Amino acid sequence: MQTTEGITINQVRLDERIEQLSRIGRIADTGVCRLALTLEDMEGIIQVRLWMEEAGLTTRLDAFGNLIARLEGTDPSLPLLMLGSHIDSQPYGGRYDGAVGVLGALEAVQCLMEQGIQPAMSIEVVAFCDEEGSRFNKGLFGSRGITGQLEEGELERQDKHGVTRREALESFGCSPAQFAESVYPPGAIGAYLELHIEQGPVLESIDAPVGVVTGISGPLWLTVTMKGMAGHAGSVPMEMRHDALVGSAKVIAAFDEMVREDPGAPTVGTVGSLRVFPDSRNIIPEEVSFTVDLRDMEMARRDRLEARLMQLLEDISKQHGLSYSLTVDTNSEPRYCAERIKSMIHSSAEAMGLTLPELMSGPFHDALALSHVCDYGMIFVRSKDGISHHPSEYSSPEDITLGTEVLYRTVRQMCNGHTVIDTFS
Ligand SMILES: [Zn+2]
Repeated sequence: MQTTEGITINQVRLDERIEQLSRIGRIADTGVCRLALTLEDMEGIIQVRLWMEEAGLTTRLDAFGNLIARLEGTDPSLPLLMLGSHIDSQPYGGRYDGAVGVLGALEAVQCLMEQGIQPAMSIEVVAFCDEEGSRFNKGLFGSRGITGQLEEGELERQDKHGVTRREALESFGCSPAQFAESVYPPGAIGAYLELHIEQGPVLESIDAPVGVVTGISGPLWLTVTMKGMAGHAGSVPMEMRHDALVGSAKVIAAFDEMVREDPGAPTVGTVGSLRVFPDSRNIIPEEVSFTVDLRDMEMARRDRLEARLMQLLEDISKQHGLSYSLTVDTNSEPRYCAERIKSMIHSSAEAMGLTLPELMSGPFHDALALSHVCDYGMIFVRSKDGISHHPSEYSSPEDITLGTEVLYRTVRQMCNGHTVIDTFS
């Protein structure tokens, strides 16, 4: 059992804020529904903004719908340290996803101020707009916005009621015409830190309250279509069939086995969606489309698996007399956390008597967008049963306190004199 000492952050204040925020958009007793750019989201922003101002920070809502609080440093010419996460949620979401990161970051900075520390570089705490991507089917909106990574047509995306992103932003008082003013110039952000719940079972399985993230794995998203020949289920003899579903099932099962081959590797592969045509009990399936989600921290290993999947498609199609085609929907590379930030997180924890394990992040976070403009680090807090995006999502107040204390101490190290800051410029 590890012992921890010297908690500086205000645990009671942090717990109360997490609890209070979770009452906004509350569903199913313990869950929340705060879809991006909705009234519930705005209510959350108003509440968090109030706490930020109470702490003595200056706040603004930028053109992308990001809530940003700023602590002015003594040397405004230095690149700033950004801390953040999001407070929007999935439609049937948990109360910790994102909220812990925003309120933990605020607690860390408020604690710094209460300790009488004014850093050389400015620090900003951000609640990013629409991390989840649930409403408009594309996430990381605010963090991609400030880093200049929005794509064509994003403002015209509609939610299921036909409301466009543009209309939703305008209802928030945010003007797309002013996007350019809210983009940070290159070099303006020196480093980014994010505290988040793990949303997976790894920390719990090794009995660790907090972990250091090594990087965010790169997802490869494919849509595969296999095509055969329909026919009456009662009349076509088995040896004459070209059953697209049987072929797809073999590919899916073999893919799963292939991804499992290296038990020590963090590789994960999932087929989560299947469409069968014509989808009738007495017709042999003619066409099947399925999605592939393949993630790994090591690009070379992921590439090898992708190549083997292609071979599998080739072989099984031949066996069953099928044709196949595929589209690449997303192909991102893994993004690694900065070694020096990781080592600062480790040493912060060691000073508390904690040894932190390292793990990768399968899900993406706002840190993924920030990783393209600055060094970043992430701290994970243990999730109960690995459950997330669900009302039963849970992380204990004790674990959240430890994670936030590690964040606070890491921020403090980064503020400690110019030498550390210089390495980010
Ligand atoms: Zn999240």
